[in-house]
Amino acid sequence: MSIHTFSTRATEPIEFGGDPALATSHLPSHGRSLTEIEAQELGAICDTTADAAERAQHGRDWWPLSLRWSLRNEVPQIPAVVCRPKNTQEVSILLAYCNDHKIPVTPSGGRSGVCGAAIPLFGGVALDMTQMQGVESIDEVSGIVETLSGTFGPDLEKAVRTYGLTIGHYPQSFELATVGGWVACRGAGQYSTRYGKIEDMVHALEAVLADGTIIRTGGAPAGAVGPDISQLLLGSEGTLAVITRVWLRAHPLPEVERRAAFVFASFSEGIEACRRIIRAGATPAVLRLYDGAESKRSHGGDGTQCTLLVLDEGTEAIVDGTMSVVFDTCKEMGATDGDVALIEAWMHHRNDTSGLQALTRKGFVVDTMEVAANWGHLDAVVDAVESAMLAVPHARSATCHLSHSYIEGACVYFTFAATPEEADFESTYLAMWKAGQEAGLKSGANLSHHHGIGYSRSQYMEQALGTSMGVLRAVKNALDPNGILNPGKLGL
Ligand SMILES: Cc1cc2nc3c(=O)[nH]c(=O)nc-3n(C[C@H](O)[C@H](O)[C@H](O)COP(=O)(O)OP(=O)(O)OC[C@H]3O[C@@H](n4cnc5c(N)ncnc54)[C@H](O)[C@@H]3O)c2cc1C
Repeated sequence: MSIHTFSTRATEPIEFGGDPALATSHLPSHGRSLTEIEAQELGAICDTTADAAERAQHGRDWWPLSLRWSLRNEVPQIPAVVCRPKNTQEVSILLAYCNDHKIPVTPSGGRSGVCGAAIPLFGGVALDMTQMQGVESIDEVSGIVETLSGTFGPDLEKAVRTYGLTIGHYPQSFELATVGGWVACRGAGQYSTRYGKIEDMVHALEAVLADGTIIRTGGAPAGAVGPDISQLLLGSEGTLAVITRVWLRAHPLPEVERRAAFVFASFSEGIEACRRIIRAGATPAVLRLYDGAESKRSHGGDGTQCTLLVLDEGTEAIVDGTMSVVFDTCKEMGATDGDVALIEAWMHHRNDTSGLQALTRKGFVVDTMEVAANWGHLDAVVDAVESAMLAVPHARSATCHLSHSYIEGACVYFTFAATPEEADFESTYLAMWKAGQEAGLKSGANLSHHHGIGYSRSQYMEQALGTSMGVLRAVKNALDPNGILNPGKLGL
């Protein structure tokens, strides 16, 4: 029995440059159209619309390059129809039908992905999962929350909190994204150093394979029952299965919260402090270190000083112990005290996305690139990525902060901008990405920490995975031999 159902819907990333019903596809069209009979038969399976404006909206996500296209009333690719199943059975019947008829199906949640993962590149069906919302059960003793995959972050957290629990997953896109999207993209929340990434939070999954088979994975705190099938689906970006239901691990609501801020003379010294804190076993929920340029932009300073913001929450004794490791380490490293009020300001603005839209409207190239690397490689990655990006003609800035930490390394999150002429906009955007990703891979980083691969990073998958790319292809061919699920993504 459903405990809560909701009505939140995807938030559109930017206004269309004209009537969305008249929007056109920017990418070359190799889209699968539907016959009238196919459209009718899909309509008999679940709520289906061919409304032009709705199809255009489902033809894009928050990929920054496509926001620019939107201002010209273009979206990357327009699907033939939008289908909105209400339960797992409908998803199963729909996938079996599309598999038989070789109709591409691109699942979507909040369409907040920033790499074009939810773009229906080959037309066909845009499978909007946001009708499948709600928390279905809560096991208070074990701390397990069963939720439908189309549930948005605030609704989930609100429902769970009424039981004295928290999931602790707060991505910057908390209000824009769904549980299914978190799982499909291996997302990370801002409190991940205490609560983990989404792959640490999933207890079990229900998913539907391309042929309509419904599967259940996981369901125990740990296991040795062959490879973990939940982990295979985590990060599969809609290419291996449609996730319909997720069981998440929940934590007791925190007793206390503590905050601290420090200032380091260099980014490198700040990184070393973070390394020592984490290696000592302290895991403050938030451990964010900003380079000189980002510190100056957000916290003041002369552009050389680097701010570290720290926040932890949980049981008092554990939080106090953690903060004492943080304090002692920062002092040993020669940091000075920062302004704790900066954390309140960050809490206030941390999910504000208005800057991206405003800069896009002004004609700036602007985007972010997040990668992970081991502690031993981080300095080299930061230098290599920033230098490579800044060497691109028209580049204006490439800055960095460290946002999520692990025992062996961390995520570094770059923000870059350029001011090319209109005619050079797209080539500059693509050149900055290419420069950044290739420099990152060569200096020891991976391809993505939490935004995923989608469409925009697909071309680097072979380089990033090497011969393991063959394993991913083999899994794809085994689970989806007709290639109907989100074709053209993840480098597949
Ligand atoms: C301003 C902003 C800030 C962001 N901050 C963060 C952040 O802090 N942390 C973070 O991790 N991400 C962040 N993102 C990226 C994005 O929000 C995440 O990738 C999010 O998890 C996507 O969820 P969604 O529901 O919007 O999925 P969508 O964008 O709709 O889809 C993303 C991918 O998941 C697949 N998918 C969606 N639902 C399902 C399903 N039920 N079954 C199978 N496949 C599915 C789609 O096919 C697609 O490949 C940010 C994005 C924006 C715009």
